Amino acid sequence: MQPTPSWLDEFPQRLSELDAAHLRRTRRVVAPQLDAEGHFSGGARLVVDGVAMLAFCSNDYLGLAQHPALIAAACEGARAFGVGATGSPLVSGHSTANAALEQELAAFVGLPRALYFYAGFATNIGIIPALVGPDDAIFSDRLNHACLVDGARLSGAKVHRFPHADLAALERQLQASSAARKLVLSDAVFSMDGDCANMPALLALCERFDALLLLDDAHGFGVLGPQGRGALAQAGLTGTHASRRILYMATLGKAAGVAGAFVAGDDTLVEWLLQKTRSYTFATAAPALLANALRASLHAMEHEQWRRTHLQALIAQLRSGLGAALAGHHWRLADSHTPIQPLIIGRNDEALAVADALRMQGLWVSAIRPPTVPVGTARLRIALSAAHSEADVAVLVAALGALAQGI
Ligand SMILES: *Cc1c(COP(=O)(O)O)cnc(C)c1O
Repeated sequence: MQPTPSWLDEFPQRLSELDAAHLRRTRRVVAPQLDAEGHFSGGARLVVDGVAMLAFCSNDYLGLAQHPALIAAACEGARAFGVGATGSPLVSGHSTANAALEQELAAFVGLPRALYFYAGFATNIGIIPALVGPDDAIFSDRLNHACLVDGARLSGAKVHRFPHADLAALERQLQASSAARKLVLSDAVFSMDGDCANMPALLALCERFDALLLLDDAHGFGVLGPQGRGALAQAGLTGTHASRRILYMATLGKAAGVAGAFVAGDDTLVEWLLQKTRSYTFATAAPALLANALRASLHAMEHEQWRRTHLQALIAQLRSGLGAALAGHHWRLADSHTPIQPLIIGRNDEALAVADALRMQGLWVSAIRPPTVPVGTARLRIALSAAHSEADVAVLVAALGALAQGI
């Protein structure tokens, strides 16, 4: 008897199709490099699948993930609270450490109130459906992060996507919409391009059309603005200038060096999110030891300005070095002044080949391919960190220069 065909038998074929399109992703197994005394050798030095590598692919922009004060705070937090949060923040999970962190986050970004989440993805897929529903409209930049896209879908609102940074197109869409509730979504710093949204112009459009602006500052928090207070602070839109039309969201696993995320804004709006966000209510709170580490992280961001100064110097060094090394070549460095410095290569296989050649030299840079980025714009996403030295950046520039010459 012939077995009935099942869709469960199709997965080997579907995986082969990924291979054929150079779209199969693999994970590398990573550990920190340690020196002879067993200390960290710096956040960018890793052992990757057993091999020592210099990494240019982490989001630890300030090099805080191995900061001794953060590690001590996490250990103290574990001693004081135990390891697990034990429940939803609406039941037993909202520790004194989590509550203190929320107050400090709000003060740090200059907004009235903050709500602390265990992850950024869960924040956006939860808060968007809490704000708008099927009778409402969402306007979303085409290059927004996947969790804004998914949150918009989950809300059931009508989604209008506008071409990246095309505010004239956004204006036309807002004008044409008759929805009573309008929500505009934008990354503050775009994660695969490193460019920044025009926040004052977005806010002006939201004022004109009675829309709310949700800004995802995953890559700007800690890096941009005075003391790293983020993209809104850089644009002067916080404190007494804070608008109740802006909901500010940022993640805490990138420059902050730990894990989690928060959303901040008008007191009533944040209270509404606390009531209605399903990924908040029906999920275990972040452990207090992480909140403790994050409080130490905020302290380091505020008091260790040298990390941002050093990072800016590395960004300038990479841009001028690659500008010279790649003059006349078809590889193109994107126009970014953030730690995300994408080198647009073009074809998937060429981007993979360059990443492989770098890996052979002990340099780890991730190749980003469609569907994460548009077809034909496969790239190396070079991510710089205060954990890098000028010598590290010089090594990468020289290696890319040599590869471009075909050596
Ligand atoms: C990383 C990222 C997220 C997700 O945050 P996690 O805390 O990693 O879940 C959300 N938005 C943007 C723009 C990101 O880059």
